[in-house]
Amino acid sequence: MLPSSGALGSPIELPPACKVGVGLGVAVAVLVSVGVGLGVAVVVLVSVEEGMGSGGSKVFVGVLLGAGVRVGTVAVTGGALSWVGLTGVTPGVDSDGVTVSAGATQAASQKTVSKSSSNVVCFEQDLFIVSSWLGKVLYIALCVAGGQSSARSFLLAASLSQIGLKEKWGGLAPTMEVEMSFPQLYVLGSGTALPSVERDNTSMVVDTPGGLWLVDCGGSAYQKLLRLGLDALQLRGVFLTHSHPDHIYGLPALLFHLKLAGWRSDGPALPIYGNVPTLAMARRVLGAYEIDRWQPPTEWHELPEIEAHGFAEDDDLAWFSTPVSHSRPTLAVKVVAKSGGHVLVYSADTGPCESLLRFAAGADTLLHECTAVEPLAGHSTPQQVGETATQARVGRLVVIHYDPAYLLSTGETLMFIRKGGFGGEVFFAEDGMILSLDARQGDQE
Ligand SMILES: [Zn+2]
Ligand SMILES: [Zn+2]
Repeated sequence: MLPSSGALGSPIELPPACKVGVGLGVAVAVLVSVGVGLGVAVVVLVSVEEGMGSGGSKVFVGVLLGAGVRVGTVAVTGGALSWVGLTGVTPGVDSDGVTVSAGATQAASQKTVSKSSSNVVCFEQDLFIVSSWLGKVLYIALCVAGGQSSARSFLLAASLSQIGLKEKWGGLAPTMEVEMSFPQLYVLGSGTALPSVERDNTSMVVDTPGGLWLVDCGGSAYQKLLRLGLDALQLRGVFLTHSHPDHIYGLPALLFHLKLAGWRSDGPALPIYGNVPTLAMARRVLGAYEIDRWQPPTEWHELPEIEAHGFAEDDDLAWFSTPVSHSRPTLAVKVVAKSGGHVLVYSADTGPCESLLRFAAGADTLLHECTAVEPLAGHSTPQQVGETATQARVGRLVVIHYDPAYLLSTGETLMFIRKGGFGGEVFFAEDGMILSLDARQGDQE
């Protein structure tokens, strides 16, 4: 049986940013059970304003679908947010960080998100990302029926196209929403060489009208593309930065998966780019599996260790590589979007180096690794990342190959990046994040 209306009927607190006033809220909820863990609730809320804005009283009516008692606070939170969306109130987070909540259990500090409350905060943000009513309802229903993992898959597939750059550590940086446009970069993995619960090894894919380009290949790239709603059979190229396992170990599986998914033996060859030792390693690993014809036809393009080397170009993008400073020969990569001219550079694994400064100079977006807490050959500390971003005068910085589970917290990392001199926007990549590459931004001197 579904819950009593107690939770949904609790006073709903609205943050000051909503400009509705705290007022006196009375919610009456009627739940009709349609199955275990699923329900329909009709909420009527009468809010009497207390001198904020026009004053007087207002009546709001909302309908909630998919709220259930089994997940308690999560479902209730979703319901409350849906209600807010229906009344047209923009969610607000004031400096003290009290977000919209129902049942008085979800007050969460946006500045000090604790482990226990972070899921709730993410859930709330996710709901706002799902802009349509149907999407909200489906998302809530999935949360109830299948838990947050299935809901997360839905969210990524159905709604992330609305988001230019998603940021989940409230208070550290803004969330930007942009029109859906091409090209876009999807972060498949954002973590260090050691995966964690939240982050797999770093890899990414650029989505263009002409197809997909994969950069590095840890984990199951095929499954990650599925989860993002991207068609892996649209892959048009793979770039490998270097031969460490966290950057290439998924390649044999990807090729195998592509064949199983229907890539024809007489279909187009998949170009794979990298420096000589990286491709040699990748081919040795691939050979060990003896999958023979159970892979797409491939073209192996060995790239020279020279700076700003243009290695591929199509109607949408132009690609360049440059050697950087790591324990194995490594290439950073640059992609230039022909529509709009956005320039994105991914540092790959590297310590501070002149070649990267030249390569990233004036880039709109720099994805930079941040693997070390103390100076470490071949990797970068947060302060060094800040110094590189500053000296290269990039528009925005996205920290990647980074994991707060093992390294400094995002707050501490940001502090050191600022100490490195970088005053621009800083984002922390996470698995599933999308970056829109459709316009130029930042300092382009
Ligand atoms: Zn790595
Ligand atoms: Zn490495």
